[in-house]
Amino acid sequence: MQHRQTLRVRLVGLIMVAAAAALTAADAALPVLTSGRYYTPARIAAGLENVRRFDWAREQRERILNRGDAIRYYLGPEVTAARDYAALADDDLWLLQPDASIPRTYDLKENGAVCPVHGEEVRKVNVWCPWSIDPIGHPYQIRCPLGGEWYPSNAYHRGDRTSGAFPDDGTGCVYQGQRYHFLKEYAAMVYGSVVVPTLSSLSQAYLLTGDAAYAYKGALLMVRLATQYPNYGWDGTSFASLENRFERTYLGPWNNEHPYYRGKKGGLVHDLIWENIHLERLALAYDALRETIRGDARLLAYVQGKGVPVSNGEELRAYVEDYILRAGAQAILAGHLRGNEGHHQTAAMAVALALDDLSDRHPNSLDLVDWVYHGHGATASILITAATRARTTTASSSASCAWRGWPSACGRAIPRC
Ligand SMILES: [Zn+2]
Repeated sequence: MQHRQTLRVRLVGLIMVAAAAALTAADAALPVLTSGRYYTPARIAAGLENVRRFDWAREQRERILNRGDAIRYYLGPEVTAARDYAALADDDLWLLQPDASIPRTYDLKENGAVCPVHGEEVRKVNVWCPWSIDPIGHPYQIRCPLGGEWYPSNAYHRGDRTSGAFPDDGTGCVYQGQRYHFLKEYAAMVYGSVVVPTLSSLSQAYLLTGDAAYAYKGALLMVRLATQYPNYGWDGTSFASLENRFERTYLGPWNNEHPYYRGKKGGLVHDLIWENIHLERLALAYDALRETIRGDARLLAYVQGKGVPVSNGEELRAYVEDYILRAGAQAILAGHLRGNEGHHQTAAMAVALALDDLSDRHPNSLDLVDWVYHGHGATASILITAATRARTTTASSSASCAWRGWPSACGRAIPRC
């Protein structure tokens, strides 16, 4: 966790250290976002200046552009190598985010962390998630850590539901009377460890290089995610015409009660805790990609060809904003997302900032800020009773990690609300 925190500090530092400097002539082609709420011109300039001056910033740039983090588990990596994912064909990148009709969990009594060939031996590698994935080389497959074999045996993303000895159509693979959940594992891993980190890396690669190809690919992946991102319906909101995607939520297939952890509810793509971490990153990536989503004619034509129901760039911007940020806001306010102390407050403030909606529509940014401080977020109270003790009373290290980032997230959003 300390390692993660260190990386987080460096990543934030790369883009927000205050030493803003005039752009050089060589930077003239770099992007100047006119609608960035987090990525203001001063913040972008500071990041570029840091790259010019400091080794640590150049190392971060290299990590974002070319190296990426090792793919593992269901979450943890913060960036992939932007170069590798920008090089994917549009149709392959579009399918990087699986259809959310594939659940991301299941009853873990039913062969959780069990290989059909090597059995429970794989738990010696990791008792929860022993698998590895390679979304570019082996899309829609997980790899056994012992034998190195890949499951399932069919190419699901190519429409093949039945090939080989271990086919999985999204409902699991029945082999010798036992059901294995290859694609559910893949869907959970690729979202948290590849899709969200790739949106972070592509969006930041665009800001660091000015190369519009990064922005195009990032925007394409974000629109794809918007077509799949779940929600709990829109009753009582100003957005009643939006699609209800409850069945695609983390526990939608079980009517919002976990089939293994009885009593556990909520979540969106991931569960009610982890999704907060993802949502914060999605909000910041959206902030960098908003203008491309709204203004790229090639992107508009591509996503229209994929059936996205929009007729112009402004509608596409609203589509992404509503189906990701607005859905996240609604889930937070309704209690469907609750992480460790600091997680949901930080996510709410990031969404409030990126959404920047002070209109009379609800939920909006003011609803989120009010909730963070005076609603169930309880920040007004916690800042007084806990922050003065220099540490949260919550025991877990991840909560402490969230706590440290939370006030700064609040501070970024407050001036606008
Ligand atoms: Zn195996």
